[in-house]
Formats: sequence, structure tokens, C-alpha cells
Amino acid sequence: MQIIRSTPDMRAIRQDWRQAGGKVVLVPTMGALHDGHLSLVARARDWLDEQGGGRVVTSIFVNPTQFGPNEDLDRYPRDEAGDLAKLRGAGCDAVFLPQVSDIYRPGAQTHVEVAGLGRILMGRLRPGHFRGVATVVTKLFNIAQPDAAAFGEKDYQQLTLIRRMVADLDIPVTILPVPTRREADGLAMSSRNQRLTPEDRAAAPVLARALDRGEALIADGAGVAQARRAIRDILRAEPRAEIRSIDIRDAEDLSRVTVPARPVVILLAVRFGDVLLIDQRVAHP
Ligand code: AMP
Repeated sequence: MQIIRSTPDMRAIRQDWRQAGGKVVLVPTMGALHDGHLSLVARARDWLDEQGGGRVVTSIFVNPTQFGPNEDLDRYPRDEAGDLAKLRGAGCDAVFLPQVSDIYRPGAQTHVEVAGLGRILMGRLRPGHFRGVATVVTKLFNIAQPDAAAFGEKDYQQLTLIRRMVADLDIPVTILPVPTRREADGLAMSSRNQRLTPEDRAAAPVLARALDRGEALIADGAGVAQARRAIRDILRAEPRAEIRSIDIRDAEDLSRVTVPARPVVILLAVRFGDVLLIDQRVAHP
């Protein structure tokens, strides 16, 4: 597995790969890898197999511009040695580990903003977050020049926004969505789970239970208000859970819905102590 630590090296290696032939899939991450990230690598491999072969490159970059001033940038978990071992085991071909100074150079004035999708939902809770995401993903696409890139459905709004951005800017990268990988008790795998206290960890599967109920109600023909109330009641019954948002939106474009006529996505953001967990479920009426 190649370890690439700078933008010029990434560009040079991409050039070599182009000459050797085969496609390239990028898996953008912030490290502290778990099995959810590795399912992105597996999806990338499957896509390459369908395409006649190629290389998977995972990027590990804790992107400062997507963290707000009071967010957990400094406390974000980092484990380079562990990450490299996991990626080797998962059959990743290369890892791109740029420095912050390599990605954000002095004097930069340009950013990418998806005006609608970036400002709603989590974009309201975390102003500037999606601008940071869209900008760094564009930069990673320009540096690694992948044919495809894998993104988790766990970060559903992020996935929707990246698809919009790629369409709007004619970026020639195929977006591969990957279902959320979960612990045995239903908790969506997340690097942030490590920071939960044992009590909060025990309480956190309430998100998955609330999503199960919401999905079942929507499938039975419930309206958005009714499903939302039922989800809220389940979350409120868990005293350690502090609800930040419960939204049920159109699964395609995240527009508001009152009576679902086509698939919707249930989006939850719930705090446990100082850890914000998010989870989602697509529900079919
Ligand atoms: P992160 O390192 O948290 O920025 O996540 C990197 C990528 O992994 C994003 O596309 C996430 O949506 C995806 N991801 C994170 N957790 C999971 C999970 N439990 N299952 C599938 N994909 C995930």
C-alpha cells in the first residue's frame, strides 16, 4: 500500500496510474477508521471490479474548515498507525495523508458552497460546515482526480450535497453511496462513538430504535407530523439523549414533506454529553 503525504506526490502517482491504466476510486475520510469506512473501501473495490480493475485511494484528512469554533476539532480522534493497518487489511492500494498546510495555503480566497442544501438542517446547526466539506471534497477531487468516490449514507445530507455539487459543476466523478454499517445493537458506527461514556454508549442505540419506529409508521401511511411525534417520544424517554433535531424530508432533494408520496429520509441529530450523534433512515410510504 502506497503512503502519499503531499499534494505533488499524489499528483505524480496519479499520473503513473493513468499511464498504467485502470480506474481510480477515492474514499475521503477523517481517519479514526472503523468498519463503516472499510465498507466504503469494499464498495470501491466492487465498483472497480465491475469496471475492469483499478486502484482504491483513501484520503485521511481532518479538515479544519468543516469544524465550527466550538466544535471538536482538537478532540477529534487520530490513530494513523491503526488506520494504515486497517486499510492494508481491507485491500486499499494507497493512502493520501496531506498536511493542513498542504491543503490550505496562505492567500486562498476561493471556496465551494452549495447554497440551498448547505444551509438547511445540519447546515443550520453547524454554520459553515458544508462549505468546508464541499471545498475540501472539490480539492481532493482535483488533486487525486478519481473516476469515482464513495460516501456513506450515514452522512445523508453530505451525500445529497456532494451529488448536487458534482452535477452542478460538471465534475466527472461517479458518486457511490454506501449503506450505514452498524454495531450489533443498531448504533451506527462513528469515530465519535469512542468519546461516549459507557452510560451514553449504552443509551445511544435509542436512535436506531426511534428510526425503526418512524420507518414502520411511514410504511403504514402515517404523515410526517405523526411519525415525528412518535420518534420524539422514544428519544425523550431516554434521559441521556438531548434532541438537537428530528427531520423527515424528501429522500431525493431534502425538501419539506407533510404527507409522504415518495421515499422520505428520517434525519436525527442527538447529543449525549458533548458528543453529537447523527443517524438516518430512508422510509418508503
Ligand atoms: P468521516 O471519517 O466521519 O468523515 O467519514 C468518512 C466517510 O465514511 C463518509 O462518507 C461517511 O459517511 C462514511 N461513514 C462514516 N460512518 C459510516 C458507517 N457507519 N457506515 C458507512 N459509512 C460510514
